[in-house]
Amino acid sequence: IPEISWDRAVRLIGGAEEVALACHVTPDGDALGSMLAVGFVLRSMGKRIVASFGDRHFAVPRLLRFLPGQDMLVPPEEFPPVPGLVITFDASTPERLGLLRDNAARAREVIVVDHHPSNESFGTLGLVDSTAAATAMLAEQLVYRLGGRLDRDIATCLYAGLVTDTGSFRYPSTTPAVHQMAARLVATGLRTDEIARELWDRSPFGYLKVLASALERVRLEDGLVWTYVTRVDRAAYGLPYAELEGIIDIVRRTDEAEVAVVLKEDDHGDWQVSTRSKGAVDVGTVCSVLGGGGHHNAAGYTSHDGVVETMARFRRELAKVRRRSSGAV
Ligand code: 5GP
Ligand code: MN
Ligand code: MN
Repeated sequence: IPEISWDRAVRLIGGAEEVALACHVTPDGDALGSMLAVGFVLRSMGKRIVASFGDRHFAVPRLLRFLPGQDMLVPPEEFPPVPGLVITFDASTPERLGLLRDNAARAREVIVVDHHPSNESFGTLGLVDSTAAATAMLAEQLVYRLGGRLDRDIATCLYAGLVTDTGSFRYPSTTPAVHQMAARLVATGLRTDEIARELWDRSPFGYLKVLASALERVRLEDGLVWTYVTRVDRAAYGLPYAELEGIIDIVRRTDEAEVAVVLKEDDHGDWQVSTRSKGAVDVGTVCSVLGGGGHHNAAGYTSHDGVVETMARFRRELAKVRRRSSGAV
């Protein structure tokens, strides 16, 4: 891992009056939590800040609305068109910034805070560590380097990132450093039970019905378990797209499958493909080939084709990666 230039980051930030923060589209707890945590510190340093993400329909996912600091958020149209300094969070490529991609491209300086192995090292300064379990771990470091102190608001945001990306401390990325960081955060007086309920243990009734249709259609074929959710399924219950995030966690528990896939149709008719592996197959490679990216065991991409064609392409690329990892080719 290359040495991270914390000092240069601190100098760049110190010299800026205004800082524009951006995280990846359809933000998860790690993207939004890391961004808001750093936002709190910058605000206490007297910086003018805006924070946003580049979704066409700008809305904070319901399960992240409990995070403090929502008043920092502005829709992408209000993001500075030619920013002096941009800091990005949990985005491995400029494309992951969605509508804010061009704003970042015009910025004088772009600091990239990220932990994806597939990070393309865009921007002018990378605070990137692919061994970190979450971007929140790098965000915590940035908080300290900027002279910030952990308060409960900052800790809540960072904790949301840490528990999201470690699957509540269940994934193999859960190192001693992860638990040590969690201990520092919890010591600020966090209600970890309330955070867990907000993130995972509540949903509108319609979620159960949509989940039921997804499970009705689920298929198991040769170590691959997969299903899909259409926008028509959701429309019947007025269920927003963002509510579908947890379905993959139910599907991927299948003992007989090494790889799990859930296709989720968004409001525009595009399909977001969520993929998970138990370790033998690198779905990050499969998804990179298909135009997306991610991690070895959790990755995704967007498909503009229908379900049948999307799955045919996925199976084809999966077979190639499987062949390579079994050493047959
Ligand atoms: P999820 O299935 O939860 O939406 O995404 C799992 C992981 O895959 C994310 O943490 C992210 O790293 C990655 N990912 C998902 N969709 C995309 C995509 O369209 N492009 C890239 N580069 N990565 C993605
Ligand atoms: Mn993320
Ligand atoms: Mn992350």
